[in-house]
Amino acid sequence: MADIDSEARERADRRDRAVRAAVEQGLLGPHAAVAGLLDVTGIRASAAALRAAFDAVTAPGTPVLHAFAVKATPLVPVVRLLHEAGIGAEVASPGELALARAAGVPPDRTVLDSPAKTPAELREALALGIAVNADNPQELDRLDALVGSGPARSPLGLRVNPQIGAGAIGATSTATPTSKFGVALRDEGAREWVVQAYARRPWLTRLHTHTGSQGIPLPLLARGVAEVYALAEEINAAVGRRQVDTIDIGGGLPVNAASEATAPTHAAYARVLADRVPGLFDGRYGLVTEFGRSLLAEHGAVVARVEYAKSAGGRRIAVTHAGVQVAARTVYVPGTWPLRIAAYDAEGRPKTGPEAVQDVAGPACFSGDLLAEGRALPLLEQGDHVAALDTGAYGFAHHYAYNSLARPGVYGYAPDGAGGVAFAVVREPQTLAEVVAESGGAHASALTTLRAPGSR
Ligand SMILES: *Cc1c(COP(=O)(O)O)cnc(C)c1O
Repeated sequence: MADIDSEARERADRRDRAVRAAVEQGLLGPHAAVAGLLDVTGIRASAAALRAAFDAVTAPGTPVLHAFAVKATPLVPVVRLLHEAGIGAEVASPGELALARAAGVPPDRTVLDSPAKTPAELREALALGIAVNADNPQELDRLDALVGSGPARSPLGLRVNPQIGAGAIGATSTATPTSKFGVALRDEGAREWVVQAYARRPWLTRLHTHTGSQGIPLPLLARGVAEVYALAEEINAAVGRRQVDTIDIGGGLPVNAASEATAPTHAAYARVLADRVPGLFDGRYGLVTEFGRSLLAEHGAVVARVEYAKSAGGRRIAVTHAGVQVAARTVYVPGTWPLRIAAYDAEGRPKTGPEAVQDVAGPACFSGDLLAEGRALPLLEQGDHVAALDTGAYGFAHHYAYNSLARPGVYGYAPDGAGGVAFAVVREPQTLAEVVAESGGAHASALTTLRAPGSR
């Protein structure tokens, strides 16, 4: 526990120094009212901790591919950083695959999932040799046609839904009885169908499951993995050989949104799995994991200037430049996706002083655009800064273009070797010209010159 606490303290210290340096160096200032910051030291540490966690429980020589769920932080430099730290990529769209390729992740370190792959996507993945997990019987039919036309270099698998139920958040639970993902294993006849599907396809060598993202307790995650392991054993027994040679256990390790501490850790999850599903780690199966949130969330903060501090109806409100455009889930479903907020002064130093209950609002034009409501924080004043913490995954990388608010710049930070903080651009701030271009700027007269039906 002691080292978890000191790790959390160091992470908070690095962040505090980075916010101060971002203000000093002008990444945040009059012309940049909001920015995303990523802790490179922390990301490297999480990648190393994930690898160590599974190394500690797997038989020596077991092939293990940790594939970062690109969905969580779809930024090329982040995917490259993780790749260099020994982490591959899990992609679920043509865009995510393009990002992984741009980051230099090789095909044999890439896994393609997604419930809606087109024939073209499948063909490309197979041509590249990327691992594919089919979602359903129709997709297996498409793979039959593609595999029939030549030997597949790609490891191919099937996603199953063990239907073990939801975690705390329905919208991100994927192993519910009626989830849209994978083959629903407990539906009538489904299990027998899956075994037959493998028996007929000797090239089907993987099984995949993913129970959900955030809100899934460790015992439920472990149950999903246990179910897919039992199915692999059943298939291999039925076909009389070790056809299923790799099990992809998905991601979904939840992140602690209530405090700085990392809990649960990757190590704790690996130990639970080793305890509940020991056969998975004895060296007979290769492993793929697909963690996203747990690798990135706590290493990102979105920092915004307080433009105005006001009050209405007795409630104090800090109007900032971070709202729905950088924290859409929190703004629309605040009870499910609470954000920790840290207060900084105008120079970017941690704000002290007596706390006051206040709202932290965003810049968008609707009342619900709040990062936090009724939160006790040092009283925020005009020119101060707020940081929305744990937004390194599913946060500021997921821009939502409400009010044509521009995508903020994203910067990675690390010690500069001389006691200061060095920054690197991860993503440039979006310019207004780009906002216009993405909003049909090149087609300004398209509608006024479109002829009405029947006109000549
Ligand atoms: C979203 C997703 C992940 C990553 O989930 P996290 O909660 O970010 O770890 C992994 N695999 C699949 C198939 C997903 O859809």
